[in-house]
Amino acid sequence: MSNDLSFSELVAWARESGLSSFYRDHWNHAATNSLPPLAREKFAAVGLRAREYKKKKGIVSVIRVGAKPYLWKWALEDLQGDYLRSGCRPLLLFSRAHDAIEKPLTLFRKNILALNGTLSNPSVTLFAAANYHIDSVLADSSTYVPGMQMLAGVLDSKQIVERTVFVESGVEFRSLPEQEITHLLLSLPETGSIARLCEKHHDIFHAEPDMLCEAESGELIVTRLARLVTPVIRLATGIAARAMECECGKKGFVLA
Ligand SMILES: [Zn+2]
Repeated sequence: MSNDLSFSELVAWARESGLSSFYRDHWNHAATNSLPPLAREKFAAVGLRAREYKKKKGIVSVIRVGAKPYLWKWALEDLQGDYLRSGCRPLLLFSRAHDAIEKPLTLFRKNILALNGTLSNPSVTLFAAANYHIDSVLADSSTYVPGMQMLAGVLDSKQIVERTVFVESGVEFRSLPEQEITHLLLSLPETGSIARLCEKHHDIFHAEPDMLCEAESGELIVTRLARLVTPVIRLATGIAARAMECECGKKGFVLA
């Protein structure tokens, strides 16, 4: 991963691309320090091929923003995420098919073999979870609570030592029993993990290492400092947020 890529290097790379003019067209001639944000709907209006800044094998997923579906591609090398400690045995419960493919690939690189479960076929999931001694759960905001209720039938809750949950908004965040969750991540399908909830101050999110998070006019604007197939540069997420200094010493933001 290109963790040390600066914002201006990323913008220069996108500006000079011979493969796509997607960002050039949107930015027009704006200076690097005043690039206009890009709404998620703008991606939906342009075909996947026209947004590709590199040619790489990967996985393509369908994203829905409002009613309109559009395609997004991840190169395998761009999948990232520090979700669980190595050596654990997680059960994955996700509502989107993309997560059920992408998360095990990401975990596999850390020598974590994940078991994919489903809420729609609980007997098989429960049998597997009990017999393969799972000790952790990775879920999205819609599957976490029903998933833990389902597991209560076969597992002692103390057996589950790590619980990682992904949310896409403040509304989803507040719907969760936050105290029992080990890692709470804000994540969008276009960006991957954006930020995680501070371990000390349970309201403030801190950006992931290769993410640049700005709260502008009450909205979270996100840049991923990586040369992705479709780079994410000043994406207007639609997530309501405001900047907040955290007592832990790091900059952060709260979800409205
Ligand atoms: Zn903090």
